Amino acid sequence: MKKWIFSVALIFSLDLQDIKFQKMIAHGHHATPGLFKPYENQYLRPETIHSSYLAVKGMKMEKFSGENLEKLNVAFSLVEKVVNTVEFKDRIINFKNTAGKREFASNKGLTNEEIYQIFMDGREILQNNTPGEMNFYLKLYYNPFSRVIGYTNPDTNLIHINWRFFKNYHPSDVAANLAHEWVHKIGFDHISAKEHDSVPYAIGYIVGDMAKKLLKSQQLIH
Ligand SMILES: [Zn+2]
Repeated sequence: MKKWIFSVALIFSLDLQDIKFQKMIAHGHHATPGLFKPYENQYLRPETIHSSYLAVKGMKMEKFSGENLEKLNVAFSLVEKVVNTVEFKDRIINFKNTAGKREFASNKGLTNEEIYQIFMDGREILQNNTPGEMNFYLKLYYNPFSRVIGYTNPDTNLIHINWRFFKNYHPSDVAANLAHEWVHKIGFDHISAKEHDSVPYAIGYIVGDMAKKLLKSQQLIH
């Protein structure tokens, strides 16, 4: 009986830790975010929304070296290329959630356009004096038993990335993970790892999808 009580207490304390950390959990599948098309009433033309250039800056890359660092740098360049396209703007402002509405889940009361502008402004909650920059503070770690791809928490800009997934990841998957985690740094969250319509998940999927297509098109050219 005592053993049983101890187990329950342990599970509960693990749950509390879950609340503190914002984690990206590995799923068997990727959701494909929907979007409104130009022939639909709710469609918003991208040229009506202003945007300035957003640069990716690797501020700290702890424990990354060799192949890992190379892959990370490819992912950085993919993220920067993707977020500065009109297509990215289109896919964010015209994002259609799984209920068919033009809004993200856990959106803090903000419209798609407002979220796009906050994203492109590049002001992290803990580093809001460097507009126009996605500032990445990263640390690679290894937990072979965890389904966590990456995690961070609101007290720090540091993002932890699990090598268990990173080692097999395509650079476009790394780009998706970086975008997801960075969206936490600008103040957006999700209630669970199943909230595919949340700002971190949806934007992560969009960046991953576009990065994959971009790499494919580049390989066709070279
Ligand atoms: Zn997350």
